[in-house]
Amino acid sequence: MTALAAEIVVAFAVLAGVFGLVIGSFLNVVAYRVPAGIPLTRDSRCPECDTPVRAWQNVPVASWVALRGRCAGCRTPISARYPVVEVVTALAFAGIAAASLNTSSVPFGPTVVVLVAYLYFAAVSVVLTLIDQDTRRLPNAIVLPSYAVALGLLALACVAGADWGSFWRAVLGGALLYAFYAVLRGIRPGGMGGGDVKLAGVVGIYLAWLGWGSLAVGAFAAFVLGGVVGLALLTLQRAGRHTAIPFGPWMLVGAWIGILAGEPLANWYTGLVVA
Ligand SMILES: [Zn+2]
Repeated sequence: MTALAAEIVVAFAVLAGVFGLVIGSFLNVVAYRVPAGIPLTRDSRCPECDTPVRAWQNVPVASWVALRGRCAGCRTPISARYPVVEVVTALAFAGIAAASLNTSSVPFGPTVVVLVAYLYFAAVSVVLTLIDQDTRRLPNAIVLPSYAVALGLLALACVAGADWGSFWRAVLGGALLYAFYAVLRGIRPGGMGGGDVKLAGVVGIYLAWLGWGSLAVGAFAAFVLGGVVGLALLTLQRAGRHTAIPFGPWMLVGAWIGILAGEPLANWYTGLVVA
C-alpha cells in the first residue's frame, strides 16, 4: 500500500470513528428507552432528579469525563457503560470503514451503500447486546425493521452495481439461519428465545451476502462462544444449569467473526479437508 493510500484509509477511519461516537451516544439512549417504553424523541433528563441534560453535557465521552461520571444536578453517578459504549461503537465503525477499503480481505462490495448496511448492523449489534444483557429480550421494535433496512440497502447496492447473486444468497442465507434456529427452538423450547430465532434471519442475511463460508463460520462461532462461556460460568458457579444466559450477544459476536474472517477461515478449512 502506498503512503497516500494509507493516509486515505486513516482519514476515512477517523471520520467513521467520530460518526461512531455520535451513534454510540444515541445507542445508549435506545438501549435505555426502548425496553422501558419511553419515546426516543423526549429530551434527556436525569432519572434521579429530572434535571434536563444540556447540550454541553451530551458530548460523547468528553461530557462524562468533564462531569467526572456524575449528574450535574444531584451528583448521582452516571454509569461508565455510557462512555464505554460510545468508544466501542467508534472503534467498530472505524475498523469496519477501514476494512471496507481493503476489498481483497473483506468484500464489502463496490458501493458505499454496502458499508452503510454493515455500519447499521454494527449499531444494531451493540444495542441488542446491551438490551439482551439488561432484559433477556431482543425487542421486535429493533429486530424486525432490521430485515427491511438490511435487504433494502443491499438491494440498493445491487441497483448501483453489486452482484444480484450476492443479494439472493443473502435472502436464502437469512431464511436458512432463521429455519435452523426455529428447529432448535422446536427441539428444546427453553434453550432458544423467539427473539433469537428472529435475529437469526438478520444475521444470516449479513453473513450470506459475503459468502457461504462466512455464513458457516459465523453461525458455528456463535455456538462455540456461547458454549465455552456457558461452561465457564457453570464451572465458576456463576450460573446454575437453568440460569438463562442470553444467546443474542454470542450470535452477534459470532456474526462479526464470520463477517471479518469468515471467507479466509472457510477457505483454510476446506483446504485442509480437500488436501
Ligand atoms: Zn440528577
